[in-house]
Amino acid sequence: MKNKINIFLIVFLLFAGIFALKTAVKSPRLYRKSEFIMGTYVTIQAEGKRKRVLKAMERAFREVAAVGEKFTVFGQESPVYEFNENSVSIEDSGIIELVKKSLKISRESGGAFDITIKPLVELWGFYEGEPRLPAREEITETLKIVNYRLLETEGWRLTKKDNRVEIDFGGIAKGYALTKAADSLRDSGVESALIDAGGDIYALGTREGNPWKIGIRNPRGEGTVGIIKATDKAVVTSGDYENFFISDGKRYHHIINPATGYPPRDMVSVTVMADNAEIADAWATALSVIGRERGLKLLEKQPGIEVVMIDESGKIYHTPGAGEFLTLRKN
Ligand code: AMP
Ligand code: MG
Repeated sequence: MKNKINIFLIVFLLFAGIFALKTAVKSPRLYRKSEFIMGTYVTIQAEGKRKRVLKAMERAFREVAAVGEKFTVFGQESPVYEFNENSVSIEDSGIIELVKKSLKISRESGGAFDITIKPLVELWGFYEGEPRLPAREEITETLKIVNYRLLETEGWRLTKKDNRVEIDFGGIAKGYALTKAADSLRDSGVESALIDAGGDIYALGTREGNPWKIGIRNPRGEGTVGIIKATDKAVVTSGDYENFFISDGKRYHHIINPATGYPPRDMVSVTVMADNAEIADAWATALSVIGRERGLKLLEKQPGIEVVMIDESGKIYHTPGAGEFLTLRKN
């Protein structure tokens, strides 16, 4: 009897061993690295052979850093800086490409997304990290030079119609960096990766044949409120908790409504899913401004863009199409 049990045990252990070995061989290792770029931690996880993956990740990080340098408003002597400070026209094709995409989304969002927002962001003190509530007159005055129609593109050249107009790619550049990083990883032969730029994410391919799982952060507490499944998709979130101050019990944050000059209050978190990361990024900012009712309506005309929004009370709203990817946490 005892011998029988022993034989069973040995056979069982043998099978368990073979199974463990098989799964170990089957699941390729995930390599992970973080770097502080564009004012945030950028983390890349990628599957594949060690040497090749690490090299590919290095290349992708360099792409993100290059986007950061090109699009920052602080880069002295850069084309964006010269355009803002000295009204020198921009002829850099990479910048013009992103300006054109920005202008398209400005038109589609009824002006909610607007890269000429810079003088307002500056007035509110969000660049210096010491934000303050401006006087209403200051806001009214500044609003006069915030309007994407004051930008002009003729072919591959960007000019402004008023010398005081200044641009800021803060609402779209991180998404663009995600696209560049993903393209670079693909070029290097990586088929499976997750790129996370401070919570703005691009999921490349699958993780062991399944979609990547991306958490939606609880905007007013710990942990996540749900999970999004993504394959070759961007998942980008704009939130009022990222950069804000409280004055007289009211929260003021870094996304500003170009129509009023004030931060919107409708939604506290807006997560957009789209194939293209800069489009997801710009729409997350735009929909924060537009709010739930008009936003969900507007997206009926934008196939391929899905959104999950959370309001102050924690209530969650989403486009019908988002339901396919979304699993909400049960409370
Ligand atoms: P995001 O986190 O992508 O929503 O981007 C927020 C950043 O975009 C801000 O820090 C500003 O630099 C910029 N921004 C603020 N309001 C707008 C707006 N209405 N349209 C475009 N960019 C904006
Ligand atoms: Mg954005």
